Amino acid sequence: MRRPSVRDDLALHPGYHSPQVDVEVRLNTNEAPEPPPDGFRDALADEVARIDWHRYPDRSALALREAIGALHGVPASQVFVANGSNEVLQTLCLTYGGPGRSVATFEPTYALHSHIPRITNTAVVSGERTDDFALDLDEVRRVLGDHDPTITFLCSPNNPTGMVESEETIRTVADIAPGLVVVDEAYGQFAPWSALELVDDEAPIVVTRTYSKTWSMAAARLGYLIGPSWLVAELQEVVLPYHLDSFKQAAGRVALRFETEMHERVATLVEERGRVSAALAEFPVTVWPSAANFILFRPDADGGGLDGEAVWKRLLDDSVLVRNCATWPRLDGCLRITLGTGAENDRFLTSLGSILEN
Ligand code: PMP
Repeated sequence: MRRPSVRDDLALHPGYHSPQVDVEVRLNTNEAPEPPPDGFRDALADEVARIDWHRYPDRSALALREAIGALHGVPASQVFVANGSNEVLQTLCLTYGGPGRSVATFEPTYALHSHIPRITNTAVVSGERTDDFALDLDEVRRVLGDHDPTITFLCSPNNPTGMVESEETIRTVADIAPGLVVVDEAYGQFAPWSALELVDDEAPIVVTRTYSKTWSMAAARLGYLIGPSWLVAELQEVVLPYHLDSFKQAAGRVALRFETEMHERVATLVEERGRVSAALAEFPVTVWPSAANFILFRPDADGGGLDGEAVWKRLLDDSVLVRNCATWPRLDGCLRITLGTGAENDRFLTSLGSILEN
């Protein structure tokens, strides 16, 4: 059989996947540890019963965008929604990237910030963070000055390091950037401040958010951005018609009725973050401070005698799955644990403790 060959520029790049294996404790993809609050399913069932299944969905997803806008105090015209924040990022690259254009990233950071540009045929120019994974503004000036990227990706809190950027840093990057600054706030609710307050019709800054973490809706694939109205209108022209189905639009609206429960869950996870970080600090590992729902750590090879890869495998043998970040730039030997329920976190700590002791 004659088979088409994959585009030359894609063939070089591996995909981005986290193993989906059957384990008792799954702490590898930064999801919420609990399903949506009581009442969500019934409220959604009522909405679903009213869907006109033979009709296309509302193409502009207006009711959902109004509800998200109300949550953040902005008009629907400043809200763009898509199938997960990954599709938001992809639509940004399709609209403002492409051949002859570039996006800037500062490593280590979220792998899709370079993967999505590549699959949209957009060049990626990467700068380095400092040794403690902070943004280095001189490096930012150098990269943006040398390459003139149309998009600069920031991630706050940064995945996988957990570090939050200060308001001053983001304002400075926005001043330097020749094009659009995208602040990916997939973990924004866990952080002490948000760049949402910098969004304005006159500023080339957008903030992306997701339903996959705090809203307990990773299964639905729903994300959005808040940005200038002109930019939202341009993205709407590029994204596929009727890209967001009626079911998802309803689920997104219903979820927002449970904002109080969402805040309570965030508060619980933030408490667990403090507890697990403190417990990790007692082990022979390096732990990075986190403002997100995960913690990056690296087993000291001279402590327990096992490197990150070996610890990851031993945890998996014990049915505890964490993220192996060893292949990510500059993260040799690092693992990332998503905060789970108290019981799941205890199970992880007990398992790690016994692995590092032996
Ligand atoms: N941005 C960051 C920083 C993430 O960590 C993730 C999820 N891993 C996403 C975006 C994608 O989220 P979604 O599920 O909304 O596509």
